[in-house]
Order: sequence, then C-alpha cells, then structure tokens
Amino acid sequence: MELIEKIYNAGVVGVGGAGFPTHIKLKCKVEYLIINGAECEPLLEVDKYLMREKNREIIRTTQMVGQLIGAKHMFIGLKEKYHEEILYLNEAIKELDAQIQLYSLDNFYPAGDEQVMVHEITGRVIPAGGIPLDIGAVVSNVGTIVGIHDALEDKPVTDKYMTVVGDVVAPGFLQVPIGTSVRTCIEACGGTSLVDYKVILGGPMMGKVIDGQEIDATYVTKTMGALIVVPADHYIVKRKEQPLTHSINQAKTACIQCKMCTDMCPRNLMGHQLRPHKIMRIMGLGTTDEEILKEAMICSECGICELYACPMGLSPRLVNAYVKQELRQKGIRYERQPLNDVNSLRDYRKVPVPRLVARLDLSRFKGEKLNDMKVLEVDKVCISLSQHIGKPATPRVTVGDYVKKGQIIGDVDREDFGAVIHASISGKVCEVSHYITILQDSEVILGD
Ligand code: SF4
Ligand code: SF4
Repeated sequence: MELIEKIYNAGVVGVGGAGFPTHIKLKCKVEYLIINGAECEPLLEVDKYLMREKNREIIRTTQMVGQLIGAKHMFIGLKEKYHEEILYLNEAIKELDAQIQLYSLDNFYPAGDEQVMVHEITGRVIPAGGIPLDIGAVVSNVGTIVGIHDALEDKPVTDKYMTVVGDVVAPGFLQVPIGTSVRTCIEACGGTSLVDYKVILGGPMMGKVIDGQEIDATYVTKTMGALIVVPADHYIVKRKEQPLTHSINQAKTACIQCKMCTDMCPRNLMGHQLRPHKIMRIMGLGTTDEEILKEAMICSECGICELYACPMGLSPRLVNAYVKQELRQKGIRYERQPLNDVNSLRDYRKVPVPRLVARLDLSRFKGEKLNDMKVLEVDKVCISLSQHIGKPATPRVTVGDYVKKGQIIGDVDREDFGAVIHASISGKVCEVSHYITILQDSEVILGD
C-alpha cells in the first residue's frame, strides 16, 4: 500500500485522457497491465520522447505497478514504426530482466484509444460504456508511469511534459510548471510568425481550439499534453468552430444517409451499438427516439466521422456531444447493451495516420525535427483546482501565504475521486478562486 500512498501524496493522475486519479485506478487486481505509448493523435511526440529518455524508469515502474495489481501479463503498446523507442525499451527490459512485452500496432488512428488498444492486445472488447477493468485490464499512459516513478522518489506532480508544434518558430518539447499560461509556452518555442492564429489544446482530432485572450487565460494542467499553433482559417479550426445549430441544420438538409460515419466509427467496428447516421437522421427529422439518441453517450468523440468519414462535411461528433450533454442534464444514464460481433472488415477500415494528416492539412508539420526538452522557468502560475474529471481540490492556502515548490496547496480526502495539487513554483499566493495564483517573490527566492 505504500506505493498507493505515495501516488496519492504526489497527486498523480492519468495524463493520456480525462485524468483518472491514479491512486484510485490502481486499487484493483487484474490480469492485464497495459502501458499506452502509442501516442493516439497525429503530431504528438512526447510519449516517444519519454520512452527514449526514461525507458529504464518506465520498465522498472511498470514492473512495480504490475506486481501491485497482480497483473499476469504486462504490455507496452506502441507503434511498429517506433524503431528507436522499441530498441531502447527492449534493452531496458533485458537489463532489468522484466516480464514485460512490447506490442506493436500499425500506424492508424485511434490506435492509442484505450478501448482500441485493449482489444488489439487482449482480443477482448470492453462493453460499451465500460472501462478496461470490466475485462480485467488496467491501462496507463507512459507519462503516468513516469509520474508514478517520480512519486516513488517523493517528487510530486509539479511539471508537465508538452509537445508544442505547428506554426511556431522552434517546435519541440517543453517541461513546464503546471499553471503556466499557454501564451508563455508558445513564446518559449520562439512564438509564431502568424498574425492571425489559433491554438489547438491537445491533438488535432480531439483537441479544443482557443484564440485571442483565451491563449493568455488558459493554463497548463496535469492532463494537457500538446499545443498546436495553426492559422486562424485552418481547415481544423473551421470544422471545429462550426456552430451547433449549423450542424443540426446540415443534418436536416445535407445528410445523405450514406452511413459512412457509422461504417468508419471505431466503436461501431468493435461491436458497440453506436450508429451516428441514425442519430443524424433523428436530429434532422426533429423527432425523439431516446433509445437511439442514447447511443451518443458511448461516442468517444474521436472525430473520425467529422474530420475524415463524412463526404458531406457534416459533424456527427458535434451532434453526439450535444445529445450526450442534453441526456445527462435530464439525468438519463446509458444502460449497457449486449455487444455485437466485431466487424470482420475492421482491419480494413482503420484510418492510416498519413492519410489522416493529409486530410487535416497538417502534412507540412509531419516529420519535422523537434527540439530537445526545454525546461521552462516562469514567475507566475495559475493552478486550477479542477484539472481533470472528479472532485476539485480544496484550497489549503490563503492569499498572502508563501509557498515552496512541491508544497501541497489543495487536496482531497484519500477516498475521494480527485487528486492533491502542489505549488509548481516557489512564491507568494496572490489569488485563491477556481485557481491558485502564485507569483515568484524575491523574498521567497532568497529564503529557499
Ligand atoms: S457520413 Fe455524413 S452524410 Fe453520410 S450518413 Fe453520416 S452524417 Fe450523413
Ligand atoms: S466521434 Fe464519430 S467516429 Fe468517433 S466514436 Fe463518436 S460517432 Fe464514432
């Protein structure tokens, strides 16, 4: 249990998705431990960096976590094309005599979706609306494993590894204090020569677009892994910023019911009862068939239907997200349905990443040389009390307090679904609201 205690104290959460608190996730016994190193979204590279530079830490910690949860099988899932990373990890496995296997996936999207990865490795399908635990597996990202490694050395989560790419002068990797503004991260990569630009937070498929003052007022969290700078009129921006009313009107007038969205949907292909074309039809007709609308609740919002499959340029993903929210507000929950068979054409319908990158108009950024990890020091951070799913942390500091880097500034009870947060720089607390703002202070620096 000491391991769980250290993970809780360090505030580790999953870095590959919604930020599931790790000390809660690991309170289980399972057959499979799967470490996700497949870097789901195009252009993101930080997991590869970690597998190259911290391979021994990853292998050692994976073994410890595997023992903790009683895993009979331990895998690191990555892509076949990661030749260098595979070499380094295999060397570390040999050197440490670890019972860990590497599992290579093809270069398709979304290979790093945990449901897809679990199916590829175990052959099992997680029930729609379920989690890997349902079929005896735990999935953690390589970044989370590095966080656990640090926790074992009593280093809390204060910094974040980021990929910063797109139209920036010097694309590369950043290690930044949590709470650093997105603007500061972009400037640390030389800024951009674009006059009118927007920033995608996360990957191009699932990330959120921000611009203007939002870039100054958005701060790095434990779950933020990438920033992509693009022209304000970029294809992805236009598609993601399409108003919902426009999408619903389009569903009425332009959906030709070709069913491509459903045929290419990764969840549907694995046997989940998710048929975006039917949801589009219902929205277009303005009728209510709750049983079909409920299918939207198992949409992962991977974006394939919206950015790749639909020949009419419609947005089933956006419509699903809207329907999902409406149903949740009405207190409607998804009830598990029996799985269909895995589609026999699934392998042929996987979306190749190079083709996706071309479709997204991102080819000019693909394969560019990224700078080595730059460790960024900042004099101001705004640390959110709510950085991931679950309960926000309760502040444990007040305005005027002096804090040191690594000190707990917000916490949750051990059994709560949440995580402790720590000061990411030393300084003076100057605001406590939904954020805790810390300004570096010369008095504190002298006293360090
Ligand atoms: S792919 Fe587009 S046009 Fe075809 S059914 Fe789906 S939403 Fe309608
Ligand atoms: S976003 Fe579209 S393709 Fe992806 S899971 Fe949802 S319905 Fe399927």
